[in-house]
Amino acid sequence: MEYFSSHIQSLVEELSRLPGVGAKTAARLAFHIISMPEENVERLAGSIMNAKRNVRFCRRCQTLTDEELCPICRSGARDQSQIMVVENPRDLAAYERTGKYHGLYHVLHGCISPALGIGPSDIRLKELMQRLQTEDVREVIIATNSTLEGETTAMYISKLIKPTGILTSRIASGVPVGGDLEYIDEVTLLRALEGRRAL
Ligand code: ZN
Repeated sequence: MEYFSSHIQSLVEELSRLPGVGAKTAARLAFHIISMPEENVERLAGSIMNAKRNVRFCRRCQTLTDEELCPICRSGARDQSQIMVVENPRDLAAYERTGKYHGLYHVLHGCISPALGIGPSDIRLKELMQRLQTEDVREVIIATNSTLEGETTAMYISKLIKPTGILTSRIASGVPVGGDLEYIDEVTLLRALEGRRAL
């Protein structure tokens, strides 16, 4: 038996597909949206569509951006010889917040997970290898999370890069195992970066 209108029901269903939103939160959000003035709901819906339609992958580092090249890749002030490899744009943002890293990034958009059937060709590794052929890179810092998948990915990348002779390093395990990079404070991130070791 349905207690809600079918429209609310389908809104709840859509919202509960979002990460971290359980059935209860989805229902709370749905009822909140219904109670909002129509123009606010329109603005919310519009900004969701706008973001989806206009955000794209940076041609160089693959992060999400409005332009062909993201502001970091466009900047002449960044150290072009260092590339930090991260799993997603949120990890990039976490390192940027420390204000202490001045190199470039490469965003994989995921990590290798045999359990979930995610292989090397499902993340943006090919793009990284292409960059290493065309750009003058001295060091690749692998900053994937210290989860099993993150470590697997780090190992895979370091093996892939080894023949090129480019220095590969791994951030220190000061980052708690299983820790999601974006929730870790800046001091810990800095310590992980400074304590990185060559692979
Ligand atoms: Zn970029």
